[in-house]
Amino acid sequence: MDYEAFFGAEIAGLHREGRYRVFTDLERHRGGFPRATHHTGQGEREVTVWCSNDYLGMGQHPKVIDAMHAALDRCGAGAGGTRNISGTNHYHVLLERELADLHDKEAALIFTSGYVSNWAALGTLGAKLPNCVIFSDSENHASMIEGIRSSRAERQIFRHNDPEDLDRKLALIEPGRAKLVAFESVYSMDGDIAPIDEICDVAEKHGALTYLDEVHAVGLYGARGGGISERMGLAHRLDVIEGTLGKAFAVHGGYITASEKLCDFVRSFASGFIFTTSLPPAVAAGAAASIRHLKGSSAERARHQERVARVRKALDAANIPYLPNASHIVPVMVCDPVLCKAISDTLLDEFGIYVQPINYPTVPRGTERLRITPGPLHTDADIDHLVGALSTIWQRIGLRQEAAE
Ligand code: PMP
Repeated sequence: MDYEAFFGAEIAGLHREGRYRVFTDLERHRGGFPRATHHTGQGEREVTVWCSNDYLGMGQHPKVIDAMHAALDRCGAGAGGTRNISGTNHYHVLLERELADLHDKEAALIFTSGYVSNWAALGTLGAKLPNCVIFSDSENHASMIEGIRSSRAERQIFRHNDPEDLDRKLALIEPGRAKLVAFESVYSMDGDIAPIDEICDVAEKHGALTYLDEVHAVGLYGARGGGISERMGLAHRLDVIEGTLGKAFAVHGGYITASEKLCDFVRSFASGFIFTTSLPPAVAAGAAASIRHLKGSSAERARHQERVARVRKALDAANIPYLPNASHIVPVMVCDPVLCKAISDTLLDEFGIYVQPINYPTVPRGTERLRITPGPLHTDADIDHLVGALSTIWQRIGLRQEAAE
């Protein structure tokens, strides 16, 4: 077989469909975010980032950076091993305590990313719980889907955010079997929010465990940043709350929080937890500092929501179509992969605005979009510049709101 020809043909297919991914070479600067240097290949220029998941700008916060420096000076670079074999650093232990407290749970377990936490935790629960059936929301993230697949448990997909469909599907399963309902609080691409209370009601009725991914909500919602489950007073009804340390907390890593026994179970059986080097202590220290700060300060959350509202208002005034939702995610709908990429390129090249196009398979074909994530550090002038640039492009290419519907 001509392997190189095969790789080339597959890549050419992505180009033809307009969904070949080009990474934008950025250099973020301490104190400068959302500004960043774009290394273009020919030179460099300053751009404003409008699609970061460092939702609150905590990646630039002095408390986080100082905590990382201090841990680096104290412990050196890496953890030195897996958690089991010399790699449990005291900063990991402190971080797990911080996370258990954040979600008002008995225990927490950290992983090398949010992706790994979903894959490892769901993979282990699905594989080990006797004769388990996992009920998965149809819009669940790839990391949950992969975890469920690798568990080889029976999988039932319920209609997105539809407790009635979940109820019907759960009712068909023999009562004695283990059951787990996996879903998200804020869905990252449409920004819609799950009816967590109703899903918990249904799960409880059928004796199913509940597993909630709060990756796009932790740090951002709830009085202490415990996510939508905290805001709705529902944390106690969720058996597992999963989150990331890489988005609002702006460092790196993932976690689950749950009962002492459930965490101990995953700790003891999940290969994705056991057989990998643990996070660098400086990363754990930075994440803990970020969580601690956001537990005590709502200023960033308030400013974040205010900025999001302002962007929506400006888009409304300019007649730019976006998906309405009750979260912080602003999906500007283009609904064509080639056009979406062209708009993103124009924003970057002509206006110094960076918004990555979102194409299939991240979103369904025909729903390609610019996923805009306003943050507390975007100024009024930044918002005017963004919306002005979008208006210019929209007029230039003759797009109208109706075309995107
Ligand atoms: N869950 C959801 C819903 C996500 O969107 C993501 C990342 N985009 C993850 C999990 C994985 O988190 P991490 O980036 O920390 O690996």
